[in-house]
Amino acid sequence: MNPKRALTQLTTRITRYADTVSGGRPTLSWDDIAGALPKERIQSLLIRVKWAGESQFWPDLVWWALRELWPQEWKTQDPRRAQRLLELALRDWIDPGICHRCGGHEQDGRCVLRTRDKKHPFRTCPTCQGTGIRRARSGRSMAQIIGIDEKTWRDTWSARFAHLEAVLNTLESQALHTLEKNLENNDHSNI
Ligand SMILES: [Zn+2]
Repeated sequence: MNPKRALTQLTTRITRYADTVSGGRPTLSWDDIAGALPKERIQSLLIRVKWAGESQFWPDLVWWALRELWPQEWKTQDPRRAQRLLELALRDWIDPGICHRCGGHEQDGRCVLRTRDKKHPFRTCPTCQGTGIRRARSGRSMAQIIGIDEKTWRDTWSARFAHLEAVLNTLESQALHTLEKNLENNDHSNI
């Protein structure tokens, strides 16, 4: 089963009983999926909050992220700033934001809008410039949220933000891969 689809089942709590009476192809139960989650707490929290929509784990996730993802050598005068940056990185990663104008509708590898011109029925979306991504927050607003000045954002914090984004994406693919593997093993053991 697709690991992302499996995760959505965590919020619906399908029981083993329901699985047995529905007949046909056995589906995975809540316990199967929960049991197949990665053992690393941070990885499991990341995919549960993002793909299962279990926002009740948000405080846990922030706490673990601060503990595990914030490098010791990243100094800050105010520890709350670390938390704010991490929260921003996590929120953007959970909801990367699809362009409102084109809805991320892709044609030949770029995001487009329909036109009335029959010869050229599509044009590159001018709002996102074909990327499909909602325009990122400005450095100014990032600095404001974190509580630093714009220069400090540019000099130090923007690179930290980019680093965190990369780490989150790596952890996510590792976590989904582990879940997928564990679910497959689970399937085999049921035959
Ligand atoms: Zn667009």
